[in-house]
Amino acid sequence: MVKVGIPRALLYYQYYPMWRSFFEGLGAEVMVSPPTTQATLAAGSSRVVADTCLPVKVFCGHVLALVDKCDCIFIPALRSIKRRIYNCSKFLGLPDMTRAVIPECPPILDIDIDINKGKRRLYQEIYRLGRHFSWDPLKIRRAALAAWQAHREYKEMMINEGLTPPRAIARLSGEETTPTSTNKAAIALIGHPYLLYDEMINHRLVHRLEQAGYGVLAPEMLTPEQLELAITRLTGQPYWTYEEEVVGSGGHYLESGVEGVIGVVAFGCGPDSLMMDMVQRQAIKLGTTPFMSLTLEEHTAEAGVVTRLEAFLDMIQRRKRKEAELCV
Ligand code: SF4
Repeated sequence: MVKVGIPRALLYYQYYPMWRSFFEGLGAEVMVSPPTTQATLAAGSSRVVADTCLPVKVFCGHVLALVDKCDCIFIPALRSIKRRIYNCSKFLGLPDMTRAVIPECPPILDIDIDINKGKRRLYQEIYRLGRHFSWDPLKIRRAALAAWQAHREYKEMMINEGLTPPRAIARLSGEETTPTSTNKAAIALIGHPYLLYDEMINHRLVHRLEQAGYGVLAPEMLTPEQLELAITRLTGQPYWTYEEEVVGSGGHYLESGVEGVIGVVAFGCGPDSLMMDMVQRQAIKLGTTPFMSLTLEEHTAEAGVVTRLEAFLDMIQRRKRKEAELCV
């Protein structure tokens, strides 16, 4: 059985159930790299230039963790999944960049996703990918349809049950999970999933908030309509794919009555520097919801994250006490 490696980084958090369903539907075995460690990051960083963004360094580390353990590695080039809305350039050249910086990488299964080139081209790309496993077009079609269904169920599970991507993936694997957002006071996290859910690079942000007694809300728990409405209110026409995760969720949660919003960005990320700034300006303009921006990089110390988090939560508590006093 062909063993397909999937790096636990970047697009993994958005598409893993779909990819797994597709490859398993074609008779392959799927293998995911282990969770990020300091060694994963160090290995990835050693292969790319210093000013590469943190998530791409982590991605390279995960690819290295799969070398020698699988027959091929799946690395898609995701250009656009909505008309005239584009991904960050790092995703466009991901397969080529990986080949260049990790020459010992096993064969890379790539697929070029660009919805602007039309559906016919998309189907050709899916078929080209499936042909690595089967020459039967009907089998590839069935696997693709099952994969799409798995993706829809995954998205609906996160929205309907208030689950973060790692918890939804655990639920789909049969593990027990609890929603992050219960009836508790909630803090909303906004940003890319590969920053919010990689516990090593964000120093267990979700866990720390839950330990402090807060429910955690995330971009994936919002419906496409909620995200679109918030983007339209804030920026008008979206241009970047990631506007949903940052501007859409930020705009929505700032007006939803949460206790606070934390925006997580990667140092050196061009798109984020613009998008998070828009959310921050909106937070200042509204003046109703405390907002904190947390920048992560390779050398971000755990103590720094903890201190900023404690100060933010402390500020929220003091604000609440003051409001209560004014109401008496
Ligand atoms: S959006 Fe930013 S953090 Fe994500 S891959 Fe692109 S540059 Fe890196």
